[in-house]
Amino acid sequence: MNEINEECGIFGVFECKNAAELTYYGLHALQHRGQEGCGICTTDGADLYRERGEGLVIEIFNEKKLAKEKGDCAIGHVRYSTDGSGGLDNVQPFLFRHHTGDFSIALNGSLVNFRQLRMALETQGSIFQSSSDAEIIAHLMKMNRRENRTNVIEEALTVIEGSYAFLVLTKDKLYVCRDPNGLRPVSIGKLNGGYVISSETCAFEAVGATFIRDVEPGEMIIFEKGKEPKSIRFAENTSHDMCAMEFVYFARPDSEIEGINVHTFRKNCGKYLARLAPVEADLVVGVPDSSISGAIGYAEESGIPYEMGLIKNKYIGRTFIQPSQELREKGVRLKLSPVRSLITGKKVILLDDSIVRGTTCKRIVRMLKDAGAKEVHVRICCPPMKYPCFYGVDTSSSDELISAKLSVEEVRQMIEADSLFYLPEEYLLKAGSRTELCLACYNGKYPTCLY
Ligand code: AMP
Ligand code: SF4
Repeated sequence: MNEINEECGIFGVFECKNAAELTYYGLHALQHRGQEGCGICTTDGADLYRERGEGLVIEIFNEKKLAKEKGDCAIGHVRYSTDGSGGLDNVQPFLFRHHTGDFSIALNGSLVNFRQLRMALETQGSIFQSSSDAEIIAHLMKMNRRENRTNVIEEALTVIEGSYAFLVLTKDKLYVCRDPNGLRPVSIGKLNGGYVISSETCAFEAVGATFIRDVEPGEMIIFEKGKEPKSIRFAENTSHDMCAMEFVYFARPDSEIEGINVHTFRKNCGKYLARLAPVEADLVVGVPDSSISGAIGYAEESGIPYEMGLIKNKYIGRTFIQPSQELREKGVRLKLSPVRSLITGKKVILLDDSIVRGTTCKRIVRMLKDAGAKEVHVRICCPPMKYPCFYGVDTSSSDELISAKLSVEEVRQMIEADSLFYLPEEYLLKAGSRTELCLACYNGKYPTCLY
């Protein structure tokens, strides 16, 4: 049984006019979290209406489709999967029809015990249509056949383990739940007397909402018509092991995660790199988009000018999304160009957020050298990634992680850099003024059980 790893975005609207349209704008602001498929499910209290498709938000939705989605409550999802499999069946939100009440679900995250749960459910008669963990949660919710749906979700929450932030929409309620370790972000905002919920706060700006607070680890919040939102803590042991890669790479720089602006976090990483690994050079360049903030921080701290040495073609998706190595390599070439006149004859400090397979960094170093760079010194805004992620991030096999096989010096040689330095993990904590983060892909200390 293969699971599709997903790094996704979720957006919800409770009691706001034009909920479908707002969700469309919200999902558009979360598009960086997944470009493979998207969907919106709304309710007007009488029924649930769902539209979804494979592609970008602007490709899937148009005015006609949005007009079909009636009501003032909605949930939406943008999906990214590593291997591109699953097709439309795996595009969320999922919509379930049930005699005790229809409901829709949208999940960001990954269950570590999905195999066991799915096997148990199938043995008891469940039949699955997708390979997504969201469907497991849906089946668990209905397994108990209780009248009170709140408890049904709570029952599901007692058996699922892993990273998750998910939304459940019924005809009269909207639920949001976050895993006890707080691995994935999800926040609540206020809009015109109603509420919006989003994986990242950047989507609040897009719809004109005001941030209220983050959903806490191990918390479920229930939005019900005519009532104040109700908070339930469903786990006793909680922590704030937010995925470090959210700060390092996934999130948009204008998002605030647990009180820290992502751009500021990355800039701090750059500053620490400048202090820990100084080098004589002419300019600092960041790999667009995720490493620009780090490069600005490095430049500010070192006094070496920041330059736009690399330009990204905005109309090509993230290189990682291309499924095969061969396509990925082509993607990098299509996506980035060096600004030759700035680079020729210069000693360049290159900031990159992370090295996973090593392909991207190697190509960029080569590109800068081909453009005439005298030296290229690589500074990475996180530690070497040595361990697979079991929480839904696309680094699920150590075979693919270059740092699981090679030492820092061997990676330096492989990427043909003049020097290479990675930010130690304690500086990631410092960069966010935090005491907790999931750092498992760097140090192998997983915050949950593994099955
Ligand atoms: P590579 O070393 O060639 O595998 O590519 C590393 C680059 O991919 C990083 O610099 C990031 O920009 C990006 N990246 C890092 N982690 C991920 C991830 N889990 N999913 C998608 N892209 C990623
Ligand atoms: Fe994020 Fe790494 Fe933890 Fe996975 S193992 S959740 S990528 S920090």
